[in-house]
Amino acid sequence: MADQLDYPASNLTWQVLNHANVHKYAVGAYNCYNTDGVMAVIRAAEQQRSAAIIQLFPWTMNFQGAEFIRYVVNAAHAATVPIAVHLDHCIKPDDVERALELPFDSIMVDASTEDEKENIRRVKAVVERARSLGITIEAEMGRIEGGEDGLPSVDMESVMTRPEEAETFIRETGIHFLAPSFGNIHGGYPAGGAEKAWDLPRLEAIGKLVSDTTPLALHGTHPVSDELFHKTIPLGVRKINLNRTVRDDYTNFIAEKAGSLELTVLSMQGVDIYTKSVERMMKILGSSGRY
Ligand SMILES: [Zn+2]
Repeated sequence: MADQLDYPASNLTWQVLNHANVHKYAVGAYNCYNTDGVMAVIRAAEQQRSAAIIQLFPWTMNFQGAEFIRYVVNAAHAATVPIAVHLDHCIKPDDVERALELPFDSIMVDASTEDEKENIRRVKAVVERARSLGITIEAEMGRIEGGEDGLPSVDMESVMTRPEEAETFIRETGIHFLAPSFGNIHGGYPAGGAEKAWDLPRLEAIGKLVSDTTPLALHGTHPVSDELFHKTIPLGVRKINLNRTVRDDYTNFIAEKAGSLELTVLSMQGVDIYTKSVERMMKILGSSGRY
């Protein structure tokens, strides 16, 4: 957690994303579920001299518990490059309460299932409390559709972020990072993929209005081509959430070899494969070699 005197500049997630903003690249926010994932992100970041964000879901906070969160934060902060720890999609008020007692660098408050006024009210209340703890806040405006581990699958028409209202939302809530909704979907795309679903002119309009001071966070990235990632970075996207994109090779390896390798060997080789997938994305996003 950060020194509160020069908040938010002293906050690690803020530092990581603002460095990316100044130098026009993006940082991966890698969803981890276990120690293999945490080790892979840290090793990849150190080998690539890249910043990184380790993202955990509230599921991890509730299943593995507070001591696991402290382990992740300690391991991340002991790295030789900046690695922040972020709580992704914190929806339930009880989870927000638990999260504010833990040493997260940043939290995504997701009240996007509520109406606009309630979304603003709830996010603003968390921003005010987080300030005294040195934690920064990401929030979603509009509604990013789809289900992901532990997230509800919302069967409502996607509500896209209106660029002019994004400014108001940021001013009224005081958030530090904005997750816009521009046709991005969690948990997979229908025919035509992200290329067809994404409204890039809308993302560009949002970026022009707000991204100088409020870096944009990209959700719904599976699957997305390297070329499409490259198109979002000049539009102000600085935090790119990556889950299955860097995890599938690892999961497939474990599924194939779990019956035939000793657990020690399985873990070492699994972490190596996971690390390579993360390193590949660091090169794609331009975060390699920055530290
Ligand atoms: Zn998301």
